[in-house]
Amino acid sequence: MATTAVHRVFNFAAGPAVLPLPVLEEIQRDLIALPGVHMSVLEISHRSKAFESILAQAEADIRTLGGVPANYKVLFLQGGASTQFSMVPMNLLDAGATADYIDCGSWAEKAIKEAKKIGTVNVAASTKAENYGRLPRQSELRLTPGAAYVHVTSNNTIEGTEYKTLPDTGTVPLVNDTSSDMFSRPIDVARHGLIYAGAQKNMGPAGLTIVIVREDLLQRSVAKKAALPTMFNYAVHAENSSLYNTPPAFAVYATGLVMKWILQQGGLTAMAAVNERKGGKLYAEIDRTGYYRGTAAREDRSLMNVTFRLGTEELEKQFIKESTAAGLDGLKGHRAVGGMRASIYNAFPEDGVDALVSFMRDFEQKNG
Ligand code: PMP
Repeated sequence: MATTAVHRVFNFAAGPAVLPLPVLEEIQRDLIALPGVHMSVLEISHRSKAFESILAQAEADIRTLGGVPANYKVLFLQGGASTQFSMVPMNLLDAGATADYIDCGSWAEKAIKEAKKIGTVNVAASTKAENYGRLPRQSELRLTPGAAYVHVTSNNTIEGTEYKTLPDTGTVPLVNDTSSDMFSRPIDVARHGLIYAGAQKNMGPAGLTIVIVREDLLQRSVAKKAALPTMFNYAVHAENSSLYNTPPAFAVYATGLVMKWILQQGGLTAMAAVNERKGGKLYAEIDRTGYYRGTAAREDRSLMNVTFRLGTEELEKQFIKESTAAGLDGLKGHRAVGGMRASIYNAFPEDGVDALVSFMRDFEQKNG
């Protein structure tokens, strides 16, 4: 059991999710008065020097971690990744143009539904008929020449699939929903036109959405200034350094602390090595005897969300009940797919994975 001064369970939740303990401790220590500021981060003005420097440092650390090129803006927005399902087409999909979407998971399907309200969408490939158990291959993509962009979801949180190699879209900008794998491994920002992520898995608490957008694409937003609601226009947020309105100050602060923590761990290459080890241990246990069944195609397995099933729903219910009682919390799969899902993001401790593996062995021995 992970212990600090207080009792903490192993939190396998898909998001909001476990945060690094040193980050929580720093938040706790400084909550009443930020050092040198003498006010709580919950109280300071977003126009204050103190907050400006918190925001600037968070951006600088995101740029360092992600190797974000100078011709990309980093935006701190609200409304979750779900709002990006609308903002992306509102800003990037001009009348008369087509946006290609890869239907690779339940969140991609939601993104498609929203984009269709805005403009013309071509579903370039779909694995919905296979319950999104695998990712569409490059050879299956029916891409539109000269499309406005191609939208993909790099990690499918619900189904537990994750792209090892991003689709090749040629010169068409790639738009990537990285909500559940951003900063769990190195990312080639330059291959993207736009990247977005709700912060509440690997990056920080809920309430903050990070958007990284190539500057030339912002021109499409500039052209739509009169037509688009102001708050939905990327260019407005870029021109105002994410301070057009009140940003989620606490979430920005906490995310900044998580970025510092990732840097201290050695950055994204080091994070990826730990994540590969954690995921490797869990998949090895799933594959050990055939008692458990991984639901994602092996070559597409996610290191963030590990999905697996048991022989019967009865056994699955029993597994969830007993694992919860053993301090392994949040293993119930998404209601759309059932079974179990272990979300093991950056901050999820390796001894929590070890604890789950030994629980799985015991459970099999008793019930197999
Ligand atoms: N995309 C993906 C891949 C997700 O995992 C989620 C949330 N679980 C969303 C989008 C929706 O994010 P939000 O709740 O921040 O709107």
